[in-house]
Amino acid sequence: PRLLLTAGIHGDELNGIAVLHRLAATVDPAKLAGTLTLVPGLNPPGLLQSTRQWTPDWSRSAPNLNRELPGKEGGSAIADFAGRLWSRLIRSNADSAVDLHTQSRGTAYMMYAFASTPRTRRMAELVAPDIIKMDKGDKGTVENTLTDDGVPAITLELGRPEMFDDTMIARAESGLTNLMRELKMLPGKVTPPPAGLTVANDIVAVRARLPGWARLLLPIGSAVKKDQPIAEVRDAFGRSLETVVAPADGRINMITTDPRVAAGDTIARIVWWSPDPACQNGC
Ligand SMILES: [Zn+2]
Repeated sequence: PRLLLTAGIHGDELNGIAVLHRLAATVDPAKLAGTLTLVPGLNPPGLLQSTRQWTPDWSRSAPNLNRELPGKEGGSAIADFAGRLWSRLIRSNADSAVDLHTQSRGTAYMMYAFASTPRTRRMAELVAPDIIKMDKGDKGTVENTLTDDGVPAITLELGRPEMFDDTMIARAESGLTNLMRELKMLPGKVTPPPAGLTVANDIVAVRARLPGWARLLLPIGSAVKKDQPIAEVRDAFGRSLETVVAPADGRINMITTDPRVAAGDTIARIVWWSPDPACQNGC
């Protein structure tokens, strides 16, 4: 078996890099069956500039390398870079893959995995995040480009950007080791997925209607009921402008950590399981 673990395709999302450093230090090659490939930084320009994007550009319109796969060698600069990553590094080293991320600057996730098929859901369960989201995904991501090409892959989100969070890093190291046991790459008993694991297949963004200072009323991970207050937005003098309520029953999987919100900004996201059979692998 060949397992590919990648991190840092978004250059301000750092926890995954530390996870790969730890696996490099702790996996004993003498006990390893197959090939473990660790790539602790798919996006060097983004890492050097501490930006999610591929070029030294802070704007959200700069190219997102995780929408460019499989790329095209000899194409535009980013297509060529993505094409080389795909054909010379990613595809040729993977029977299974996990691409490590965090939420973006100013926001935080739970430990949260994206999967799109029964096999990738199983992989995500073995890694034991807080929440799994069944999701058809986006074109050009490492995860979806591999899965569509017959290599089961998941995206694993590890909390906040721009830091090394020891708890997240240790949980991911442990979960990925468990996945390697299931793949028969490492000896040892496979730990079954935790009983309390939330699996969702739908998501909604909860947005501020007005600009101001947002304050969350509930911590990330909270279960919420429809119409339950989850945040307040206040004006420059601290007067309440609005109370933001949950639009559906579910669980908060993402929050803003920056209280400055513009009209329409996302304050939180809520995930839940839709019983619609068409949503089994994501709505
Ligand atoms: Zn990312």
